[in-house]
Amino acid sequence: MTPSNSKSRFEFTGGNLCLDFANTIDNRASENPKDLLTAYTDLVEWGTEAGVLPPTCLQGLYRLALDTPGHAQTAVRHAVHLRDAIYTIFAAVADRRGISGAALAALNVAVQDAGEHARIAHTSRRFAWEWVLPGESLNSVLWPVARAAADLLVSDDLAYVRQCASSDCTWLFLDKTKNHRRRWCEMRTCGNRDKARRYYARKKK
Ligand SMILES: [Zn+2]
Repeated sequence: MTPSNSKSRFEFTGGNLCLDFANTIDNRASENPKDLLTAYTDLVEWGTEAGVLPPTCLQGLYRLALDTPGHAQTAVRHAVHLRDAIYTIFAAVADRRGISGAALAALNVAVQDAGEHARIAHTSRRFAWEWVLPGESLNSVLWPVARAAADLLVSDDLAYVRQCASSDCTWLFLDKTKNHRRRWCEMRTCGNRDKARRYYARKKK
């Protein structure tokens, strides 16, 4: 859910980049889901706010999208496809259901694409992952998302993936609370809405 007082259209409450990416649809399970990624500019804005697109590559991406609008639309389709795969996989993990082979295959395509653009750099006596020329590929925002999903799947944090208890919301998050009993993507939206619902249900009786 998106709180009404938020300045940004996007929320970063998932506790992991790939879960935040999956949460770019509001109320996925309702009759009126709201997709926040419909244009290429949405993708760039999300990547910027998520901190995965360096400011130096923005101009290049916007120019590429203007020059090749068909490719930009294809990049949006790739993004939505990857988002669906991530949602399908992690919702199944949260619900302890079987994992869709098609979703895992879709994620692997994105993981392999990301791998082709990753390298290890050495700066200031440290080694770090670095993306190769992100300003020259319309899919570059998906590279860190795909790798975050792969890293989460093989990490101990996987046990803390949850899905919001609101029946419409379906947002995913990492429950790193002390007793691991977090139920809502955000207390101030879904949690409060549920509280209000239960309050009115009690009053009606
Ligand atoms: Zn929620």
